[in-house]
Formats: sequence, C-alpha cells, structure tokens
Amino acid sequence: MQPIVRELLAKLGEDPDREGLRNTPRRVEKALRFLTSGYQADVNAIINDALFTVDYNEMVIVKDIDFYSLCEHHLLPFFGKCHIAYIPKGKVIGLSKIPRLVDVFARRLQLQERLTSQIAETIRETLQPMGVAVVIEATHLCMSMRGVEKQNSFAVTSAMHGIFRDNARTRMEFLELIRRPGLNPSGTAAASALDVAARQAGVAACAED
Ligand SMILES: [Zn+2]
Repeated sequence: MQPIVRELLAKLGEDPDREGLRNTPRRVEKALRFLTSGYQADVNAIINDALFTVDYNEMVIVKDIDFYSLCEHHLLPFFGKCHIAYIPKGKVIGLSKIPRLVDVFARRLQLQERLTSQIAETIRETLQPMGVAVVIEATHLCMSMRGVEKQNSFAVTSAMHGIFRDNARTRMEFLELIRRPGLNPSGTAAASALDVAARQAGVAACAED
C-alpha cells in the first residue's frame, strides 16, 4: 500500500520526500488497515460465544453506539450514532457484543443503508428474535467537506423487521426511547434486564401524560 500512497501524494502535487510527509505512507496504511479491519473480523466468532438462553421477552435496547465508517464512494468518513433494539424469543446476546457487531460492519467501505441492514440482518439471523430495529444517524464528510448538499449531510436510515415492522406501537416505543437524551448518558451500556424494564415502565407512564 505504501508505494501507492507515495504516488498519490505526488499526484496531488506534493513532495513525498519532504519531512512532514516522509512517514505518511506508513501511517496511512496503518490507519486504513484499522479502518477496514472489519473485513477480517469473524462475526460468528464474536457472537456465538455470547448467546444466552433466557426467558425474557421485553424490548432490549442499546442506544447511542458511536461508530466511524468510510463511505465507499469517496473513502471519506461518515460517523454518528447507531441505535439497536430487539425483542428476544428465547435467546439474547451479551450486550457488550452489540457495539462490537457495529464495529465489524462499520470498519469496511460502506453505505449507510447497507451498514444499517447488515447489522439488522445479523441480529435477525443469529437470535431469530420477535423483531429487530436498527436506526443510524450519521454525518457524511464527503458531503459536508465538499460543500455539496450540506443540508443533507446528516442522514438517518432505519431497518425494521418482525414486530417492529408489523406493530406501529412497538416501533413508536423504540423511536421514542432513542429520541430521548439522558436515558443512557454513558453511551453504549444498556445494562440489565431490570434497567430495560424500568425504562419501559418510564415510557409507558410518560406516554399517558
Ligand atoms: Zn461519499
């Protein structure tokens, strides 16, 4: 990769031998390898040792998962928050694995739409839940930095399956939960089933106001 980056620098009109750029090809390769390390990751290996059989069929939500990806059209970053919910049918996944699952797909050349559906599909296939919902909100530097369609540089995509697709009330409950700031200030930790249940109770109470 390094000779290509060196050539790229020259094509941009730079002098690849000047002091500030001398180590740039090495750094760019290292950065790109990391940012695309999702190609080497084994999704099944990450997930399969963290599946648990439980008798719990309320909504599990992990919201505000930070992610960083590269758009496949310009190789420029897009980044933002990913919110995931599912309603288990006998099987749950360790909560800490969910952000890792997001990273596996984010650390590739991506489209926001595909990133959203790959995360949803993986949860659907592995857990076979009653339903799964994924919402991603992201800023695309290929739009904001280039000054094109600035008003659209913030994009929201969603994938809804099962009960989230079929039942408007369930879908609204999820959307309501992810819209609220402060429910989960620490970001990704969605905590215990009790915590999830407490939040649901909170939502039900507020919905009646
Ligand atoms: Zn782009």
